[in-house]
Amino acid sequence: MSDTELVLRSTRVITTEGARAASVAVSAGTITAVLPYDAAVPSGARLEDLGDDVLLPGLVDTHVHVNDPGRTAWEGFWTATRAAAAGGITTLVDMPLNSLPPTTTVEHLRTKRQVAADKAHIDVGFWGGALPGNLEDLRPLHDAGVFGFKAFLSPSGVDEFPPLDQDRLARSLAEIAGFDGLLIVHAEDPHHLDAALRRGGPRYADFLAGRPRAAEDAAVASLVAQAERLHARVHVLHLSSGDALPLIAAAKARGVRVTVETCPHYLTLTAEEVPDGASEFKCCPPIREAANQDLLWQALADGTIDCVVTDHSPSTADLKTGDFATAWGGISGLQLSLAAVWTEARRRGHGLEDVVRWMSTRTAALVGLDRKGAIEAGRDADFAVLAPDETFTVDPAALQHRNPVTAYAGRTLNGVVKSTWLRGERVFADGGFTEPKGRLLTRGH
Ligand SMILES: [Zn+2]
Repeated sequence: MSDTELVLRSTRVITTEGARAASVAVSAGTITAVLPYDAAVPSGARLEDLGDDVLLPGLVDTHVHVNDPGRTAWEGFWTATRAAAAGGITTLVDMPLNSLPPTTTVEHLRTKRQVAADKAHIDVGFWGGALPGNLEDLRPLHDAGVFGFKAFLSPSGVDEFPPLDQDRLARSLAEIAGFDGLLIVHAEDPHHLDAALRRGGPRYADFLAGRPRAAEDAAVASLVAQAERLHARVHVLHLSSGDALPLIAAAKARGVRVTVETCPHYLTLTAEEVPDGASEFKCCPPIREAANQDLLWQALADGTIDCVVTDHSPSTADLKTGDFATAWGGISGLQLSLAAVWTEARRRGHGLEDVVRWMSTRTAALVGLDRKGAIEAGRDADFAVLAPDETFTVDPAALQHRNPVTAYAGRTLNGVVKSTWLRGERVFADGGFTEPKGRLLTRGH
C-alpha cells in the first residue's frame, strides 16, 4: 500500500457488498483497496474525509445525445459532460444520431472522436448506428470500438437517420450477431403509430393517444423474436410501456439475450401532471400514467428492467414549442437524473445501493466497461459524493447543459452531488469544474 496517493473516507461507501463505513485507497487513478473505516492512512497519501456524505461509484449513463458536431446549438461535448459531471456521472456513451455526421461509418466515428477529444470533462464512449444501407459499415465500426449499434423501427426525428424495416432489422441483427455485437433499439412499431389517432396541438392527452403502449409492446415482441431466432444480443431502449414487461420477463426466463432500460422521466413524472402546452415533457415513447409508472418500478425491483439511463436529448428552446405534434421530442436529464431517481426510489423504499446498481453497475456491464460501475479494487477511481438527505429546488438557470429547458423545473429533489471524481481527481465540486480530464473509451479497453 506504500504507493497509495489518496484515501477517501466516508461513513457510507456503496461497495459491491452493500453500504458500509470504509476508506477507499487510490493509486494512479485506480482503486487499490476498500479498507476498514479507521484504517491507517499511509504516509504520503492524502486523506479526503467525506464525513457522512455517501461515496458512490460514478454513474455510467449509456444513453446521451450530445449532438456534436453538427447540432451544437442543441448541445455539445463541453456542456453535456459538465452537466453530467455536476450530476455525478463519470462516463457517458453518446448516441449515434442528431450529430452531423451521425456515427454510421468509421470515418464519421473518427470525426466525432476528434471533436470530443479536448472537451470531455468525463469519459466518453460512442454507439454506432444501423441504418438502411450501412450493413457493410457495422463490422468496421465494431472493430473501431463502438459499444454497439442503435436502430429505429419508426422515424427517428431526423432525416439522416432513417429506421429499419423488419427485413433490414433481421439482416442487421444477423450481421451484428456474427461478431457477437449488441443491437440497441428504439422500440415503437411504425404501423401501430400510423394507426393511432394523431392530433396536433397543445393537449397532452392527444399526444399520449398518438404514441400508444401497443406500439411499444409490438416492437418489443418482434425484437425479442428476432433475438431469440438468431441468439443475438439486443437491448430495449427507454422502455415506457409497462404492458411489455410480461413478455420481456418471459423472454429472459427462456434465456433470450435481451436487456432493458428505462429513464428517470418515466419513473418520476406522470401523464396526469403534464400541463397542456408543456412540451418540455415531450419525449418518445411518452411519459405515461401513474399506474403504468408503478409497473416500471416493480420491474426494476424484480430485475425485468435492468438499468436506468437519461436519454438526455436536448434541442434549442425554440424547438420546444407548445404544440406536442411539432415540438422536439426529448428530455434533458443529465444533471438531475441521480437526484430525480433517488428522490422517488427512497419514497418507494429503495436504497442507494439499488440506485447504484441501476445507474452504474448494470450500465457499465451493458457496455462491457469492467473498470467502471463499482467501488472495488482494480476499478477506476470514479466517484460521486452525495449528500442524500439534502434537498434542492430545480432552477433551470443552474443547469449546465446548453439550453436549460427542463421538465423538472420547480421540483424539490433529494440528493445533492457535492463532488465528482474521475480516476482519482476531483473534476467537479461546489459548482466548479477542472479542465477537461475525460478520456475517449473504446469497447474492450
Ligand atoms: Zn435517445
